[in-house]
Amino acid sequence: MGRQDEQIRRHFQDLDRSLFMEDHQEQASVDAAFPIGHGQTISQPSLVLQMTLALDPGPEDRVLEIGTGSGYQTALLAPFVREVCTVERIGELQEKARKRLKELGMDNVRYLEGDGSLGWPQMAPFDRIMVTAAASRIPDVLIEQLAPSGKMVIPVGPPSGQELLLVVKDRQGSISQSVITYVRFVPFVGEYQ
Ligand code: SAM
Repeated sequence: MGRQDEQIRRHFQDLDRSLFMEDHQEQASVDAAFPIGHGQTISQPSLVLQMTLALDPGPEDRVLEIGTGSGYQTALLAPFVREVCTVERIGELQEKARKRLKELGMDNVRYLEGDGSLGWPQMAPFDRIMVTAAASRIPDVLIEQLAPSGKMVIPVGPPSGQELLLVVKDRQGSISQSVITYVRFVPFVGEYQ
């Protein structure tokens, strides 16, 4: 295990998940997904950790996150990268997440309320892309917005269950992908549902 992985694991242990939940707070340490309103969920913590480690974030990286949700995944990533640009289609969820992250002093996060299937063209390219909703296929726009040598973690498949993919773009722009594990996420709303 590298030094960075160790630091991420330590931060994961220290981060109080109950801060990202309004209901079910007493169950924050249970390794399960819970509702956060608007039909959305805060993911199971062990999976959020696994996704963060798989993304392999670095201190100079600019990261695009699709699906801010509660902000928990954002809070796990933000201390290990230069900047997180997070997109969420439900404004109320994003406002709550913004407040929580501000209170935690995470000021390297930029917020956009909108459709993540468009990525965030004005801020592209991104060294890392984290998608936390299930897409039917990998959005072309996100491939385009991934920098050379970039990595993306994205669940791809039908609503009943998805492959969590690690997508890697090499220095020449060629794409390869591998399966990290099998997951069940809420749908990516829009063209890629
Ligand atoms: N990472 C979040 C956390 O730690 O709490 C959990 C995210 S939740 C599983 C998925 C989120 O993706 C939801 O908040 C949902 O509204 C958002 N979402 C779904 N489709 C989207 C889209 N097209 N653009 C932006 N956000 C989207």
